[in-house]
Amino acid sequence: MNYRSMELKQLAEALRKRSFSTRELTEAVFETIDQSEAVIGAYITLTRDAALKQADRLDRLIVDGYTLPPLAGMPGALKDNIATRGIRTTNASRMLASFVPPYDAFVWRLLRQQEVVLLGKANMDEFAMGHSTETSAFHPTRNPYNPARVPGGSSGGSAAAVASGEACFALGSDTGGSIRQPAALCGLVGLRPTYGLVSRRGVTAFASSLDQVGPMTRSVRDNAMVLDAIAIRDKKDVHSVGNEGGSYLDAIEEVPGQLVIGWPESHFRSDDLDPQVRDLLEKALKFYESQGMRIVPVDLKTLDASLAAYYILSSAEGFSAMNRYDGIHYGYRSPQEGGLEDIYTHSRTEGLGPEVKQRILLGCFVLSEENYPDYFRKAAQARSLVIDEFEKVFRTCHAILTPVTATPAWPLGTLPEEMGGSKYSNDRFTLPASLTGMPALSIPAGLTREGLPVGMQLMGKHFTEGLLYLLAALYEDAHGLIPTAPEVMP
Ligand code: GLN
Repeated sequence: MNYRSMELKQLAEALRKRSFSTRELTEAVFETIDQSEAVIGAYITLTRDAALKQADRLDRLIVDGYTLPPLAGMPGALKDNIATRGIRTTNASRMLASFVPPYDAFVWRLLRQQEVVLLGKANMDEFAMGHSTETSAFHPTRNPYNPARVPGGSSGGSAAAVASGEACFALGSDTGGSIRQPAALCGLVGLRPTYGLVSRRGVTAFASSLDQVGPMTRSVRDNAMVLDAIAIRDKKDVHSVGNEGGSYLDAIEEVPGQLVIGWPESHFRSDDLDPQVRDLLEKALKFYESQGMRIVPVDLKTLDASLAAYYILSSAEGFSAMNRYDGIHYGYRSPQEGGLEDIYTHSRTEGLGPEVKQRILLGCFVLSEENYPDYFRKAAQARSLVIDEFEKVFRTCHAILTPVTATPAWPLGTLPEEMGGSKYSNDRFTLPASLTGMPALSIPAGLTREGLPVGMQLMGKHFTEGLLYLLAALYEDAHGLIPTAPEVMP
């Protein structure tokens, strides 16, 4: 069964028609996992027994003629910061290595109602802080298009799972780009939804004013199908609004009309933008022009300010979110003896990795009384400027097309000083949507000559996911899906 070349809708249809059973599909995915996982390392925890049991249950329902929800039987993975009752949820940290949540995250509850088959919990950067999945306390994940390279991060396990056929879809979380950037580097479609569209309850907080959960899939329609299932209002998440319009999947088939796409020249002028990335994106702009859309240059000056503001604000919020891991309430507790202070110190010293500690220190620094006015307050002001600028620009265009990353996937173990600029600047293009709360979609623009995926980002005003999907599907339908990553040979 060639499930890797099938979209979710086709898989669901095949199950319904009984071309193959849910068990056969689930077993086929686990075969791929058995073959690839030693190289790719997409998962922290696999839930094989529960998955097969669920598959058998669904097969009985199908035989009995029940009508099942659209995602029933779809084998999927969850980033390991999404709480799953009875299944450990580690956040790729030693601190939570044995934490088994007593509750489900709201998004996972929604997918359970859809009768999704959970394959396992995907690897990530520790507490979602990072951009290469190398800060995981367990193991790094490798890029299925070239295992010597990173899959991106922090949702790198989710991305690598889908790109390698070790899952048919996945959920990731995006604080500053952690869905879009790994999607771009692994040739997937990744959506950061409008802030509030998807519930955050039960998803480990990194920076609560920025965190959003979203789908990572091979195709645009798959992505819309998953969003349809999770964009539901959660009464217990104060920021949750849910989708108040029609289905996203249906929005794709609407006729676009005369659309205006903004092209921020400043983003394309950066010296560190790889020429192959620039070339593919310029071709994409020409494609949209050939479809009757108007391309207009837009002036966006706040990219650098976004970078600085994001790291100050996210670290400040991360610093307070990390307070709960003190060795006492829950999580890792150091076996070393001592008083209260010692328990805190040893548990945090041993339980957390260097990247997380760096963010805690930065967050603590920018929130301290003497530094607050120069850093935190200024960053909050900069965030308002970014919001103003984007609101202004969206008066002149419907969507904006930008790079997702300056380069395709880089080799594992690349040192920060070898990244050009700072290690944080490579993913600066994803930060404005995070700061403004606007939706942004990363879709494959094509492959480089070396066979590495390149993404492009479509951004829109709040709650314009339907429009972004429509634009993305236009491109995807004309160019076809990019070739699947080569199979890993055992
Ligand atoms: N790479 C960014 C960071 O390290 C984004 C992380 C994220 O979105 N979770 O903060």
